[in-house]
Amino acid sequence: MLEVRNLSVNYGQHQALAQVSLTVAPGEIVAILGANGAGKSTLLRAIAGICSGRSSGNVTMALAPILGLSPDRIVEQGIALVPEGRGIFGDLTVRENLMLGAYANRARDQERVNFDRVIGLFPKLAERLSQTARTMSGGEQQMVAIGRAMMSNPRVLMLDEPSLGLSPLLCKDLFRSLSQVQKTGIGILLVEQNAKQSLAIADRGYLLENAHIMHQDSAANLACDPMVQKAYLGVAAPAPAALSSTLPSVPATATDAAAIAAAALAGFAATSRQSTADVPPVPLARPAPSSAPSADALIGMSVADLVARTARQSARPATKTATTQPVSVASHDDRLRAVLNEIENAAARARNQGQTRRAETTSIRKGY
Ligand code: ATP
Repeated sequence: MLEVRNLSVNYGQHQALAQVSLTVAPGEIVAILGANGAGKSTLLRAIAGICSGRSSGNVTMALAPILGLSPDRIVEQGIALVPEGRGIFGDLTVRENLMLGAYANRARDQERVNFDRVIGLFPKLAERLSQTARTMSGGEQQMVAIGRAMMSNPRVLMLDEPSLGLSPLLCKDLFRSLSQVQKTGIGILLVEQNAKQSLAIADRGYLLENAHIMHQDSAANLACDPMVQKAYLGVAAPAPAALSSTLPSVPATATDAAAIAAAALAGFAATSRQSTADVPPVPLARPAPSSAPSADALIGMSVADLVARTARQSARPATKTATTQPVSVASHDDRLRAVLNEIENAAARARNQGQTRRAETTSIRKGY
């Protein structure tokens, strides 16, 4: 339905998009992932006809060329944009904002149907129709912005960072709403920093890097792609196979920094013993298993002491007998690095859990 072919955009000498091609089919959610400045907003703005840069290439909607048309004529072709920052009229009421969206000729006959559809999607708006838009919460304003775009009776809805500034709970609601919009047959082109949630609802995705589409695939494949995980999903690069298979992970429930470090250090001691046993046939004289600390024994130590202790263990040379060989220092360094990665990951998990809890508490207090 929407087809972009070799779209390039220049702001003066700066090329913000280079030969970008993509498609959005009816009832399909397509996610665009990319770092800051990659050209994501430029892409949506160029399609919507509101980009101040110089555009070239081909954009068609249901085979009709739209690149170069005025923004209102592009809306008439069935394309609606919810811009970054929402772009609603703060001094107008919710109802007035929604009705402004119905100005397109294609929407006039459908005004009642579209209005009912918007209220069906966002029942909260029904109670707030007379409320001034600026007095609404961020999540409610986002509903108004999407509702207004839906009032233009679009065939493709484009959204630029719709979850920006929303609490995790409201984000969930938003993404659920987008899945509902999709079920009405509208195609969705979604630019989102929240790659995890956008890939969870999307059918396909494109990676936009430095103005170029670098990769495209099904959303499911992208979500499993280690490069995507590292760049967009905040998942640390996996430890080397030999290490990751032997390194016990810190329990997901550990949220206290000292407990996280203690569990990781206990895991380190265990893997040190295990790797020693793994060097047949040469026996290594290592501390007896009973001397290895358990997590319980370590809890209570400060994180700094725990990390220092881990470092000492890593650096401690293996005691040699005439027939022994030292455990390679590199492998100790690798294990130490893996343990520290594990601590970092667990600490990030703990931080996220804390943030989620705080946001949920705030949302509950606000009555969402
Ligand atoms: P972000 O995620 O930070 O919003 P983005 O991927 O949406 O980034 P764009 O806003 O499309 O990126 O910007 C792409 C590049 O084009 C950036 O280098 C930006 O500085 C530049 N750019 C965007 N708009 C203009 C403009 N009006 N004039 C000049 N340069 C611009």
